[in-house]
Amino acid sequence: MDAPLDGSLSRPSPRDLPSVDLVLKTPAAQLASERFGRAATTGAIRAALDEARAFLLAGQLASLPSADHVALAAGDALERTARASLRPVFNLTGTVLHTNLGRALLAEEAVEAATAAMRSAVALEYDIDTGTRGERDDHVRDLLIELTGAEDATVVNNNAAAVLLVLNTLGLGREAVVSRGELIEIGGAFRMPDIMARAGVKLVEVGTTNRTHPRDYAGALGAETGLVLKVHTSNYRIEGFTREVSARELGEIARARGVPLVNDLGSGTLFDLARLGLAHEPTVREAVMEGADIVTFSGDKLLGGPQTGFIVGRAELIAKINANPMKRALRVDKIRLAALEATLKLYRDPERLAVKLPTLRLLARSRGELAALGEALALDVAERLGPTFAVEVVECASQIGSGALPLETLPSAGLAIRPVGAASGGALNALAAALRALPLPVIGRITEGALLLDLRCLEDPAGFLASLGALGTLP
Ligand SMILES: *Cc1c(COP(=O)(O)O)cnc(C)c1O
Repeated sequence: MDAPLDGSLSRPSPRDLPSVDLVLKTPAAQLASERFGRAATTGAIRAALDEARAFLLAGQLASLPSADHVALAAGDALERTARASLRPVFNLTGTVLHTNLGRALLAEEAVEAATAAMRSAVALEYDIDTGTRGERDDHVRDLLIELTGAEDATVVNNNAAAVLLVLNTLGLGREAVVSRGELIEIGGAFRMPDIMARAGVKLVEVGTTNRTHPRDYAGALGAETGLVLKVHTSNYRIEGFTREVSARELGEIARARGVPLVNDLGSGTLFDLARLGLAHEPTVREAVMEGADIVTFSGDKLLGGPQTGFIVGRAELIAKINANPMKRALRVDKIRLAALEATLKLYRDPERLAVKLPTLRLLARSRGELAALGEALALDVAERLGPTFAVEVVECASQIGSGALPLETLPSAGLAIRPVGAASGGALNALAAALRALPLPVIGRITEGALLLDLRCLEDPAGFLASLGALGTLP
């Protein structure tokens, strides 16, 4: 249908286009029919014929498309719409927990548990021992208690939901006291003051952006106070002339007034990252020990599980939270609960955790290992990209992502791809677009005149090379 204009006088007429029935009889249409069904194929043929008709009428088609040609066009269109929109990609951005690329990859144990739960009926809210009704939280409650040292625990859709539910339960119609230095925006529409308003809680700000003192909190606590909130400023740092009231100090102040202290840890981790040579990120167990009455954190950040939000802390407060009707609207389904239980169980064996849990496994990879991977790939990649691009193994820096240790980078290695000779910077954008358009898209980042593919998250180099094989000819 993209035949060139030839300006001939004997212009073809739409009336001479093949009929739908004729196109349906072609081998290509038969194949499409088997794959996508007869109704969808007929629809796609009609659409292809409509398009050809419009082109003919506009004088933009010099020759009449054959029935085979129309069938192929219809088949292509069906193929494109059949391709999943939410499909796997190679995350070579260097950000391990990339929110836009779905954050944590699940351990095989979690994938298997989730798959089994999808295929079958499960004892979700059913006590198999007694044959009576059970609680869906029970599948992970004891594990969370064991791993965090908290008295009790519950699970909701994500950490944003956890914060919302806690605020609404403990602070509805009352005040929540927060430092001005901790009124964070996480990204998207998650801003602490907005969440407070929606939770029906009145925000009482104390201190200043850079300095908040114990006396600031003490002065703000009163008869209307429902809770004191501490927020881990996970995605930024205030440096210089600063003063933050530690969770321990704050716990003492809140306890003296009989007000609960809630600590939103954000990522939170059950594993001391210092063991991987990274800076120390507060663990949930520490936050509990420091005296928070409630701690909230995410399931799909450093914890390495499915999207979930955890609320752990004092049993009496967890009971109140579970009795809030909003809990039902924020609960998690059986698939994620199954994946979550399997993920948490891996934490019982800390020695093998860094091997089994993809998030930690990827964070633990050394620059040396990644540089060696780069050397092993560079020639093949250069061959697939052709002579207009040069491929070089370079040192680079990855980051954890999702707001965990925002200032820390991990020494990494990657492939830097640059256009050679006369090829322009436009060639780099075109290459990035071509890689994104692959059946298994490859996502890198453009930096300093190169397309950088950070290899930290590449665990299937053979699949990656095979995917590059689908690249057409590049400019
Ligand atoms: C990430 C984060 C949240 C939101 O958690 P989600 O799991 O993305 O809903 C809330 N608070 C803090 C401090 C965070 O870092």
